[in-house]
Amino acid sequence: MRKRNNPDLFSHDTIAAIATPLGQGGIGVVRISGRKCLSILKKIFRLKGRKAVKFSTHKMTYGSVVDPDSGVILDSGMAAFMRGPSSYTGEDVVEISLHGSIPILKNVLDLVVRLGARIADKGEFTKRAFLNGKIDLAQAEAVLDLIKSRTSFSASQATGQLEGALSKDVHSARNRLLEVLTSVEASIDFPEDIDASGYKNINKSVAKTQQKIKDLLETSDVGRVVREGALVAIIGRPNVGKSSLLNALLREERAIVTSDPGTTRDTLEEGINVLGIPVRIVDTAGLRKAKGEAEAKGIDRTHRSINEADLILLVMDSSAPITRQDKELIIKHSGKNIILVFNKIDKKAKADVAKIVRLAPNAKRARISATNGTGIRKLEETMYKALLGGFSSDIGKVLINSRHKQCLVRAGEELNAATVALAKKDPIDLVSINLKEAVMALGEVTGEVVTEEILSKIFSEFCVGK
Ligand code: GDP
Repeated sequence: MRKRNNPDLFSHDTIAAIATPLGQGGIGVVRISGRKCLSILKKIFRLKGRKAVKFSTHKMTYGSVVDPDSGVILDSGMAAFMRGPSSYTGEDVVEISLHGSIPILKNVLDLVVRLGARIADKGEFTKRAFLNGKIDLAQAEAVLDLIKSRTSFSASQATGQLEGALSKDVHSARNRLLEVLTSVEASIDFPEDIDASGYKNINKSVAKTQQKIKDLLETSDVGRVVREGALVAIIGRPNVGKSSLLNALLREERAIVTSDPGTTRDTLEEGINVLGIPVRIVDTAGLRKAKGEAEAKGIDRTHRSINEADLILLVMDSSAPITRQDKELIIKHSGKNIILVFNKIDKKAKADVAKIVRLAPNAKRARISATNGTGIRKLEETMYKALLGGFSSDIGKVLINSRHKQCLVRAGEELNAATVALAKKDPIDLVSINLKEAVMALGEVTGEVVTEEILSKIFSEFCVGK
């Protein structure tokens, strides 16, 4: 990969940070990148008996970190030197693994800074990796997705992107367009040189690229769910078993279960893992008219989470006749992504299920007993399908994020305009403008085209040391 050629985006000083989470741990790592890192390492790292170390690249050395001014030993550990460009950032990199103690790591970092490094900004190591052409922008974003992933499914998706799955797709679409653009531009001065078959080829390539963009855009909702987690709201009238269902899903008693209607005063939000999808699940406060202020607030929040939810679990008591309130809830939410959950199937059935299902014929259904766990696994499978739609969870399959979506939507619009212009036989230089814009927009996904604004937005979400 090429080094980015915008000199304004580079800084050449040496950066350092604690790369591991701040807390107590078996080891903690101080990472340094830049021209001075080997000279700093040589000044502070000593073998037993305080002998100087001869560092060779990509080898770990056991020794001690010593303050060269005071002679005080700060800690012992392993130091590794990676000579650029064969390193994470593409520059010289040093990683010193020490004991995972906050004061030790801070002291070593202070020492490194005293000897000429500066504290790294958020995500600056990965930013340098991008600027030095070690990874592209979609891969840099994948590093962040990977660090933030909460389930192994999310992690494997991020790994696929880090390996370049999305970049490959976008590159080939962009290259195809670049070829079209080249032939279009070559003919601007001699438009009569493009014959019918030339037009046909241009149209074909543009259509192929549009299809690819469409395919990628279709992954955006699932991409968001896998990255950020889905919001699922449990609703239903009081006492149908919403809190019990939340408990069954959590498999631990977090929500308070009581038999007094309306005792769940507030929305409760919990993080769960539904067959690999990170899910924030909200148990709502029972959609009754509020009596107290606290309950009113809870109901307010309930409505908000229902509106924002990716999926609604509407719980009903199958051991009691369906009430008007049940029906109202079904009718109100039938247009949403909803599962009708018939609970208490361990008891004698009294609900007219067939009749209620007619009110929302397209809704998915589940039969459960929240208290003894029957049907919970099946409900999770139904939730999984409802959240992922037709998407199959193939490892490494490309899933775009909202930034990619914006770029792809723009590219798609430009290609639509190009198609219209081609159909109208507009002057070919107009077509070339649309094609150029589309190429630019695709380039933004992988960072071929990049501004400081895009970079700071992406890397500000990182933590220091990454
Ligand atoms: P919520 O008001 O909808 O949150 O309902 P709760 O979860 O607090 O449950 C109300 C009552 O129904 C409690 O006494 C639960 O033990 C009971 N309950 C919930 N689910 C089941 C179930 O599957 N079977 C039976 N037999 N009782 C249940």
